[in-house]
Amino acid sequence: MNAKHADPAAEIREHMAACMQCGTCSASCPNAAFMDVSPRRLWRLAQLNRMDLVAASRTFWMCSACYMCTLRCPRGLPTTETMYALKRLAARTDAPGARSRQAFYRAFAENLEHWGRVQEGALMNTYLRRKANPLLALSFAPLGWKLLRRGKMHLPRGGHKGRLGPLLNKVREMEARP
Ligand code: SF4
Ligand code: SF4
Repeated sequence: MNAKHADPAAEIREHMAACMQCGTCSASCPNAAFMDVSPRRLWRLAQLNRMDLVAASRTFWMCSACYMCTLRCPRGLPTTETMYALKRLAARTDAPGARSRQAFYRAFAENLEHWGRVQEGALMNTYLRRKANPLLALSFAPLGWKLLRRGKMHLPRGGHKGRLGPLLNKVREMEARP
């Protein structure tokens, strides 16, 4: 997010001010079925300054940053970046559900940094532990076993362990610069 804005919500509105409501982003989004408000509608709410409804939506949490909407937006708007800006804003303002949803993002980032790639089993283990909900962990056990048997999930191996450390340290260093 650009540091020149004291109000992150204002920057989000500014990003999406030129949205012409064509709906290409919604039609392109592979996760639209899991969103409560379509991306097009989310941008309209932002234009109308209904940031309360934007913040209450789970749409931006469902964004997997595939960049399809950004690639296809005829106005060239930073749609994916704005979805991320909304996640950061929700975390900063402690919006309802933000803490729980952030647990997954934190577990994902730590997993990637530790293993050098996403290690599915370890990721789910950390995530479910953070949720501190044994029933949730049990409900995923049959799916985990099925994925493991079919070779879609793997037990931790150390082949790439720590490989991304220097890259991520460099990113942190760049982000800390004034
Ligand atoms: S594709 Fe771009 S212009 Fe069209 S609705 Fe989405 S954000 Fe707006
Ligand atoms: S970047 Fe996010 S909002 Fe855009 S198409 Fe991909 S999942 Fe959907």
